[in-house]
Amino acid sequence: MTEGDSPAVSGMTQSSMRTSNLALVMRTIADHSGRFSRADISHQLGMTRSTVSRLVDELIEGRLISEGEAHGTGRGRPAVPLSLRGGSHFGIGMHASVDRLAAALVDLDGSVLASEVSALDVSSLDMRESVEELQRLAQRTLSALPGDARLVGAFAAIAGLVDLKRGCVVFAPNLGWENACPRDHWTLHHNGRTVSFSGANDATCTAVTVMRSNPGETFLLLRGDGGVGAALCREGNLALGEHGWSGEVGHVCVDPRGVPCRCGSIGCLETIVSLPALLTASRHSTLGGFIRALEHGEERAELVLRRTVGALGIGLGAAMNVWDVSVVRLSGYFADLAPWLHDPLVHQLRGRVVWGRQAEIDVQPLPVMPLRPAVGAGLIAVGPAVKDPAAFLNGQAA
Ligand SMILES: [Zn+2]
Repeated sequence: MTEGDSPAVSGMTQSSMRTSNLALVMRTIADHSGRFSRADISHQLGMTRSTVSRLVDELIEGRLISEGEAHGTGRGRPAVPLSLRGGSHFGIGMHASVDRLAAALVDLDGSVLASEVSALDVSSLDMRESVEELQRLAQRTLSALPGDARLVGAFAAIAGLVDLKRGCVVFAPNLGWENACPRDHWTLHHNGRTVSFSGANDATCTAVTVMRSNPGETFLLLRGDGGVGAALCREGNLALGEHGWSGEVGHVCVDPRGVPCRCGSIGCLETIVSLPALLTASRHSTLGGFIRALEHGEERAELVLRRTVGALGIGLGAAMNVWDVSVVRLSGYFADLAPWLHDPLVHQLRGRVVWGRQAEIDVQPLPVMPLRPAVGAGLIAVGPAVKDPAAFLNGQAA
């Protein structure tokens, strides 16, 4: 009898095999939610139909997935599509940006059950005060949590550089946070347990919402808000960089003789194209006012828009040259301005990106989704239920 035959070792192997197979099946359903049947999963993963069916039954029983309406394929048994199940596993997603704190209760299926927003000047608060306010908002969303549902965790989208291993903020110049950990101030409890907490850059969290609706896509997400951030996703995987700090397109210098940036440098992209910079230059107090001015052909607004497009052409064009990515998804206020930004920006990029005349440049705004960074953070918060479903079937994560 070899060591591999001993009941203890083979038992452990079977258990870890089940854990890993459950995760594979769950991941496949998440990537093709509502589109894949048991037969499709079996074909994609190379598992037998009976193994897939057993794992799928476990996931259904654990309320992580559900079966849809059967539809005939012309021959054989009708296919029953499998989807992530709503209503049973949730995450709290939050967003800390320059002018607001927000929290959203996000379902495993991506829907938002409740959300809360505080509009305020976050840079006037210290980190402890901001985290306490985020907790208050999070607590309020929890009143919508169904009684029999599980809260998996909480996650914050933060407008700054985040140490992803520790969830600590390295440098968030627009929030005034540096080398500090939001977790140190996080005390939210639910059902007698501390709710787990971590965080990541807000553009990264925003990209997660796109990855959920377009699995496997390669794109550059560009977000305009109080600052400017980007995230790169290659074939369904975030390219986070050596430290997790990639995507700081907002701090690419586009004007060496420009104005000081809050990061300490001069003439960064976001000194020209952040929302506050745009409003100051155009002398409008709200984005709505600026858009109305564009609609009425106001000269100053058109001038500011041209300057914005010119600066974006330099900063975004540099990122596209370096990263070789042709699909750009606009988020934040850039999405609101897409009807005016799109054509001149694509024209700029065709001139600035060295392969701009050889390959198509696809710039599109993301569909409107209120609190998109918080929703992305919520998807990350509930993510363990997709990554390690076995832990949620066995009750350890209740
Ligand atoms: Zn800067």
